[in-house]
Amino acid sequence: STQEQPPQICVVGSGPAGFYTAQHLLKHHPRAHVDIYEKQLVPFGLVRFGVAPDHPEVKNVINTFTQTARSGRCAFHGNVVVGRDVAVPELQAAYHAVVLSYGAEDHQALEIPGEELPGVFSARAFVGWYNGLPENRELAPDLSCDTAVILGQGNVALDVARILLTPPEYLEKTDITEAALGVLRQSRVKTVWIVGRRGPLQVAFTIKVPRPRKRLTELLLRTATERPGAEEAARQASASRTWGLRFFRSPQQVLPSPDGRRAAGIRLAVTRLEGVGEAARAVPTGDSEDLPCGLVLSSVGYKSRPIDPSVPFDSKRGVIPNMEGRVIDVPGLYCSGWVKRGPTGVIATTMTDSFLTGQMLLQDLKAGLLPLGPRPGYAAIEALLSSRGVRPVSFSDWEKLDAEEVSRGKGAGKPREKLLDPQEMLRLLGR
Ligand code: FAD
Repeated sequence: STQEQPPQICVVGSGPAGFYTAQHLLKHHPRAHVDIYEKQLVPFGLVRFGVAPDHPEVKNVINTFTQTARSGRCAFHGNVVVGRDVAVPELQAAYHAVVLSYGAEDHQALEIPGEELPGVFSARAFVGWYNGLPENRELAPDLSCDTAVILGQGNVALDVARILLTPPEYLEKTDITEAALGVLRQSRVKTVWIVGRRGPLQVAFTIKVPRPRKRLTELLLRTATERPGAEEAARQASASRTWGLRFFRSPQQVLPSPDGRRAAGIRLAVTRLEGVGEAARAVPTGDSEDLPCGLVLSSVGYKSRPIDPSVPFDSKRGVIPNMEGRVIDVPGLYCSGWVKRGPTGVIATTMTDSFLTGQMLLQDLKAGLLPLGPRPGYAAIEALLSSRGVRPVSFSDWEKLDAEEVSRGKGAGKPREKLLDPQEMLRLLGR
């Protein structure tokens, strides 16, 4: 029975959701073994590839995740794309339970004409580029224009605006990639507009204070209406870069340059609110406004993809249908993090939510709801992967890459210089 063999549990994805779920399982079950599969060669998901380089304190959670990964009852298997290299039913056959915590890897399209023009990027790709996500390393955004427009008013939009506006010398001691820093040093962007469909009361920024909505509103109103003091006025007059929020505007079309070869502006439909409170919807008034800009970054949301035809997926909400982390109608299958709740919420929200999934799984285990009898765990999957020519990397492999990154950053006084090329990473590991 599962009482004799330690439960073999598999977690898909090594972002905060994967690591916090693993942490909960290991802490609250004395014998459980947890294998974490990750498609990248490196762990930590959006903590590495999302969180802004100038917010290093947020990345301290990596210390906790590292403790979890070093547990004798936990193993990390990077370089394995679940759904391609190994199917979810194969994992289900090898483990007593499978937890899907693979995040939200897509972005929400704008679905407007001109979206495909050079000069238009998803904020997701832009963030991936400055954070060293291998698939975005060649993005090379052209920052020779004077004005950038960010569509969407969430936390990611603010991160992107800050990176565009911060004098590069303030980023030099962060883990931003050297390539991104090079492009930012050449940037001619002077003005950044952050555009939202709704009004100041509906913005989606989160801030770390009690009664955030009230505080945020006060802050917005004060900034917008108060006459700046002499010192502030002088600072504003001499500022080489400016930004602003534009409310009640919804993107209609990306306007092409005269030769049609790149983005030169954006047409915004003017909106007004219908309904009240959080449910208020922005509806077009019929008026529109053209805003010249050479760079358009769409930051209207991340989106999860279905991982495997065998796993239920709610494509409307972009989540795996679940009750407190138990995937509906599939015993032994669980989910946590952004793929469970949708792509909103900070790391702390993801932690609470992942602990809850871990708790549900352990309850089911205790109640005898998970399959009985021994399960081969990684031994079976390793054989499958090897027959398919897939060679996973371990956590100690990551620790070698980590040491290499830290040492490459030293000369420039950076916490690390990220490795961007998976081939190079494999070479460094002697593959
Ligand atoms: P992810 O972190 O996305 O992890 C999912 C993991 O699954 C990834 O490693 C991915 O590679 C892997 N994966 C995907 N598909 C597969 C597959 N098929 N097979 C195997 N593995 C797979 N929160 C804060 O608290 N502070 C911040 O400053 C902050 N900044 C942010 C900035 C940005 C730009 C973004 C997008 C988010 C930010 N967040 C921040 C939110 C935080 O990153 C999320 O709450 C959290 O990362 C969600 O965790 P997750 O594990 O569900 O997803």
